[in-house]
Amino acid sequence: MSHVFPRHTALAPPVAVGGEGCYLIDAAGKRYLDASGGAAVSCLGHGDRAVIDAIKAQLDRVAFAHTGFFTSEPAEALADLLVAQAPEGLDRVYLVSGGSEAAEAAIKLARQYMVESGQPGRSRLIARRQSYHGNTLGALSAGGNAWRREQFGPLLLDVSHIAPCYAYRHREDGESPEAYGRRAADALEEELLRVGPETVMAFMAEPVVGATAGAVPPAPGYFRRIREICDRYGILLILDEVMCGMGRTGTLFACEQDGVSPDILCIAKGLGAGYQPIGAMMCSGQIYDAIRDGSGFFQHGHTYIGHPAAAAAGHAVVSALLERDLVARSAAQGDRLRDALEARFGQHAHVGDIRGRGLFLGLELVSDRATKAPFDPARKLAARIKSAAFEAGLICYPMSGTIDGRLGDHVLLAPPFIIDDAQIDELVDKLDTAMDRGLA
Ligand code: PLP
Repeated sequence: MSHVFPRHTALAPPVAVGGEGCYLIDAAGKRYLDASGGAAVSCLGHGDRAVIDAIKAQLDRVAFAHTGFFTSEPAEALADLLVAQAPEGLDRVYLVSGGSEAAEAAIKLARQYMVESGQPGRSRLIARRQSYHGNTLGALSAGGNAWRREQFGPLLLDVSHIAPCYAYRHREDGESPEAYGRRAADALEEELLRVGPETVMAFMAEPVVGATAGAVPPAPGYFRRIREICDRYGILLILDEVMCGMGRTGTLFACEQDGVSPDILCIAKGLGAGYQPIGAMMCSGQIYDAIRDGSGFFQHGHTYIGHPAAAAAGHAVVSALLERDLVARSAAQGDRLRDALEARFGQHAHVGDIRGRGLFLGLELVSDRATKAPFDPARKLAARIKSAAFEAGLICYPMSGTIDGRLGDHVLLAPPFIIDDAQIDELVDKLDTAMDRGLA
């Protein structure tokens, strides 16, 4: 009997014993094409020598030195590299162990900034209904997924949730994408005015929505309008690129494509590419200076922040992305995968929308394309497709996200950037098989 506490207690997962490029291999020798990278983690694929060697070399020098006493060479080098590449104004990096921790730190930094800059009345966070920011209580409060929040309601912060930017369902007939983007962003101003702008500290959103909705990109101009509104009312813009960042959407930072720079940015997943648990919260010099000139202490820290081996992994991953031109490859292979999905599923009776950016693509499944009606959640379609795909040797990320407060089914695809054309064909063939079996 296993003594591991598995997330799904009814499942007996196979034992992963190997990883080679885009494939994972189990103890029985079965190969799985890793088309979700474990929810958009594995951007370099498995077994990348440069990253493994960088971690080993760091462990040989120093495995751990607490950040209360020391900084480390890889932490300094990673911060320099990220700042050199980041959107303008983001010039401080706080290294953490993962995505939830980055989101949690971002929420607390926003609050501490307001206190230390003489605005203690600002404590409210505004986020969006269709969002996921992590599983710790602060991050979960910011997220809008009813299923994930359900049991924890009494423990959560009072966060305002506005409508997402979700053109497939919310853009009206005859409305241009730009007009819709502006209308969707104006929901932030309406909420600010409703709750009193002087009580609000920040707005938090994913540039391209991942886990709750299947790679939903913003409408054109949406985030520029959001930025304007944040500036007008003096609130911080927190962008959560934990899933969509680090080249996944075809630019190193997803928000580059929307022409905005946030005050605080969260990254994780692709930053460590699965080789080490690492995330980061980046922030503007203005925020950093307020803390430096105020209390001088960010009131948030976990033992493993800035872990040297994790930082060495992050540095090797970002270096690999840049030196091997893998971000451009994410864009190019993303276009190929998207074309292949359009060709195979564009007319599928139960695929309502194919969307995303770069190698971050989603299919929204509907029972009726004309009405866009979702499937009955009791069918557990996403779970059926996921297990059919796994059976067929494909790891993808179907999930029951939230569609206007109800559960709806999506398939999220986020393969490693090294995926080649033959593997794209294999992915689409296996997904087709899994969809047939899941829908049967
Ligand atoms: N933020 C976003 C946008 C995510 O997609 C996730 C995870 O899926 C998180 C935060 C939480 O990250 P982690 O699972 O590393 O804690």
